[in-house]
Amino acid sequence: MTQSAGQPTPIHSIYAPWGRFGLYTFLIDAPELALVDTGVTATAQGVADGLAELGRDIKDVKWILLTHGHIDHLGGTVALWEMTGRNAKVVIHEDDVDYLQRRRAHVENYLNLRANYIDDPDAETKQTAMMEHAISGEMTPDVIVKGGEVLDLGGVKVRVVHTPGHTGGSVAYVVEGQNDVFVGDAVQIHGAANGFPGYEAPDAYRDSLLRIQEETPNRMFLGHPFRSAAGDPYPVELDREQSARVLQEAVDIEARVRDAALTLGAAASESPHSPFAAIADHLGYEGDPTLEPSPFFTTLHGYLKA
Ligand SMILES: [Zn+2]
Repeated sequence: MTQSAGQPTPIHSIYAPWGRFGLYTFLIDAPELALVDTGVTATAQGVADGLAELGRDIKDVKWILLTHGHIDHLGGTVALWEMTGRNAKVVIHEDDVDYLQRRRAHVENYLNLRANYIDDPDAETKQTAMMEHAISGEMTPDVIVKGGEVLDLGGVKVRVVHTPGHTGGSVAYVVEGQNDVFVGDAVQIHGAANGFPGYEAPDAYRDSLLRIQEETPNRMFLGHPFRSAAGDPYPVELDREQSARVLQEAVDIEARVRDAALTLGAAASESPHSPFAAIADHLGYEGDPTLEPSPFFTTLHGYLKA
């Protein structure tokens, strides 16, 4: 199928089940096919099958665009790259490239951050085993970006926007001319299953939300069905009006969390939310803060160390 001039480039979501939920990968159906994110080892074949259902072959994929370095977005990269005959160009931001080159980088991130709050003597062993299982291999990517680059998918242009905060190397990909924006996990709203938005660097996260607002997405593609204030999952594909609403909601929630974190601070207690129990109470957050990836601790750590 060839596209006639002036027609928008089709974009498809591919859902592959994983554990209690599933992971989303996207296909930009440009002359040079591009996948956005890759799930984990266990979902790689599901992504290839999803492409086949769309009448596309993984062997023809020319680009693998990673929104950031978390395992559920890059774990399937090496497996899928192998399926392309090692032909696809893998793209990731320089600040998250370590996550693609070394599984151990994920364990180190855990030890530096969440391990300060979660008392589990086996955590390092468990984390190491999980990374071995979920990440299909280590590699050095072909294209390391900083933001501002324009990738040419055979005539369809995709611009890279650096949107740090969730991770340092988070990026959004903007399909030029149709303003479709892939934001990965840079727009958390109320977070995913854990019910709390997760980001390592709060100021950068807020600035990135404002930066994405400036793009006025025609469609916005989320990395997961993130939740509304009522706890209902949003679809991963949002139209123009929904995108604007969701971005504002994310900005507003960040402001509420910021206010609570900076007003109430940290104090050790018996609560599972310790040392941030007062903040959890104030925000009405009753989720289990230790459930991986523990966005509650990651995010509040960011505010209080700033
Ligand atoms: Zn993430």
